[in-house]
Amino acid sequence: MTGTIVIAATPTPNGDLHVGHLAGPYLAGDVHARYLRADGRPVTYATCTDDSQSYMISTARKHGTTPAELCATSTARIQRSIEAMGVSLAPLPPVDDVYRRTVLDFVTALHEAGRFELRTVRMPYAGNAGTYLFDGLVKGECPACLTESCGGSCEGCGHPNHFDDLGDPRSVLDPGDPVTSREVDVLVLPLENHRRELTAYYTAREGGWRRHSAQLIREILARPLPEIPITVPSPGWGIDAPFAETPGQILYPWIEAMPASIYSTWKAAGEPEGPVDELWRAGSGNRLVYFHGFDNVYFWGMVDLVMLLAHGDRYITPDVNVCNEFYELENEKFSTSRNHLIRGADLVAEVPRDLVRFYLALTCPEDQRANFTREGLDKVTDRRLREPWNALAARVEAAVTDPGEELKVTDAGRRRAAVMVERFRLCYDLATFSLTRAADGIVTQLGRLLTAEHAETGDLLLQVRTLLACAAPILIDVAAEAEAAGVELTLDTGAETIDAFLLPRLPGSPR
Ligand SMILES: [Zn+2]
Repeated sequence: MTGTIVIAATPTPNGDLHVGHLAGPYLAGDVHARYLRADGRPVTYATCTDDSQSYMISTARKHGTTPAELCATSTARIQRSIEAMGVSLAPLPPVDDVYRRTVLDFVTALHEAGRFELRTVRMPYAGNAGTYLFDGLVKGECPACLTESCGGSCEGCGHPNHFDDLGDPRSVLDPGDPVTSREVDVLVLPLENHRRELTAYYTAREGGWRRHSAQLIREILARPLPEIPITVPSPGWGIDAPFAETPGQILYPWIEAMPASIYSTWKAAGEPEGPVDELWRAGSGNRLVYFHGFDNVYFWGMVDLVMLLAHGDRYITPDVNVCNEFYELENEKFSTSRNHLIRGADLVAEVPRDLVRFYLALTCPEDQRANFTREGLDKVTDRRLREPWNALAARVEAAVTDPGEELKVTDAGRRRAAVMVERFRLCYDLATFSLTRAADGIVTQLGRLLTAEHAETGDLLLQVRTLLACAAPILIDVAAEAEAAGVELTLDTGAETIDAFLLPRLPGSPR
């Protein structure tokens, strides 16, 4: 395959995906992948559950279960939500022996190439439990913005923190457990060793990042770059590190993301013969794109990049990271712990999926925080999408006397259809990717087509068919219905004639 590999941030299987997740990387990646497919360009859209994360331990403890059990139930739920929302990701691959071998091969090659260094570091240590704390096991004051943060990176400002960077650290598993700091030898990868390649990479892609993410990268680059842990003392969960220098330690969970993505790409491509990482090799001709949230800019935008760059010229690197901001629910943060959330599967059980996808596309947080409200979903989809769409369907019905009849299209009709495609391509191509503008484009074109005069019925139909094709990456069910009725959803607008068809109507929510 030579095409595009689209990777959505790897979900931690410590709960279901909620609407905030779906409106972030998963729907955006889906829309881009569907657009590429419709354009005849090969695409693999994949992700993989992030099973080794320390958050598995803290969430399992809270629910009185084990990380392994939590992992199994959550993975099934995540898969169900992805399918319910019509996100065209390859099935979540099993985290099995092939997965682990892919991870170990990836890190062992870096170890053999001398990329890691042994460091004596100080880490927070929970005295009663007798465990070192990192990532989801510890909370404290973020050194960059002074808000409460977990280890690893700060959800608020996005800055990294490792080892003993957090102020006033507390144990998440047992806040009463006295936390001190202790020395321990771990393997690290000093990002500073890769500053030149990093800087060259970002310079070459200036303008490719959304503004807030670009700012965070500039801020991190302006400081001494962190040393990322490659191994950490085992909390009893994760992949055992295979290195003699660090007995009893696991691989730092975040460094699994690249081999996990390589593995999930291979699974999604149908397990082709040859090495698992073949599709990610520099000579493959494949293009790589990530979709993730702002809170992952440090890991997905910098750490994971260095994990690839550290292999020399072996791997492709992402062309673009499309990053979203936070989505709020009724003006509050989505919160799994407070059960203040809406699961994707629950929502599409109540509201037709196309309407949900349209609303999430229209309101998703591209450049700043955005807000989901259930009332807004009903109101906006009714007024701006369903009513004009169904009115247009009625207009088409009135104009078409004989479905299947060949109708003439004029130059003016072809020109307008071509302009529509050009507008939508701007929304779906990565340099200018925007779900909100695509959704708004549907509304705008609907309004125009409802009232515009056309010299020939064929002109109206060509533009309606073009609107269907341009909206298809978002409105997947109505597009499938039209296709099943024989409408060819093409972005080619050069037709001399068009076969008359009827526009399928959008269903309402049964409230
Ligand atoms: Zn912070």
